[in-house]
Amino acid sequence: MNTTIDIMSLYPKDMNIYGDSGNVLTIRRRLELYGYEPVVHQYNQGDEWPEHVDLILGGGGQDTGQKKIINDFYMRADLLRKLAADGVPMLMICGLYQLFGEYFETVDGTRLDGIGVIGAYTVGQDVRMIGNLVEHSEQFGDVIGYENHSGQTFLRDGVQPLGTVDAEGRGNNGKDHTEGARVNNVIGTYMHGSLLPKNPAISDFLITTAVSRRYGSFEKTHQTAEQAAELARLDEVAANARKAAAARPR
Ligand code: GLN
Repeated sequence: MNTTIDIMSLYPKDMNIYGDSGNVLTIRRRLELYGYEPVVHQYNQGDEWPEHVDLILGGGGQDTGQKKIINDFYMRADLLRKLAADGVPMLMICGLYQLFGEYFETVDGTRLDGIGVIGAYTVGQDVRMIGNLVEHSEQFGDVIGYENHSGQTFLRDGVQPLGTVDAEGRGNNGKDHTEGARVNNVIGTYMHGSLLPKNPAISDFLITTAVSRRYGSFEKTHQTAEQAAELARLDEVAANARKAAAARPR
């Protein structure tokens, strides 16, 4: 029986900071431990788009990295919008979260149009928002990560945030206590760290959504007892990492 899942790592050369590639490793490893066969495709500017994509992971980048990928990104915009509308699960961190929105006006006044998957816009400011962060999400519980951005993102009316933050000065814009966004199965967030090793609930949402879309349902029957034990061990490591990050001052 076929158990392949095609994961796409979007612009890993220029959009991958503060450990974002750990998200790809986490999804790949968890899929293996559920008994599926992950195939990772790296897509950088000018590359061919693979025939099949079940799940897309994108990272953050410097303003300069965002400018480097932008033209190629526009060439893929229709495709990404279609995949998002079709329900393909995606996780877009920071720099790509901003570009999945309507626009990002950088602190030097350059305006980068986004692809409008997420109803949000971002404006750069001089003060960066930096540090460990805990946000509260109805679906995923406490989400733990690390933010570092100058852009302030504002969600349009009716756009659901990924979660809420307690303290001022953090999250999407430091003002309205929102963090990230959720549109269809697309998650946008400022959380680096990497995010997924510390947040198995989000990893499993992305995995079960991808597998169910491709194969009709997510089955645990592919998993051996050894794989289940290894996954339980990983979840323990994640629980400890969550505690350590949540207790650390900014
Ligand atoms: N360059 C963007 C900003 O500073 C994104 C940063 C990031 O991806 N960490 O807001």
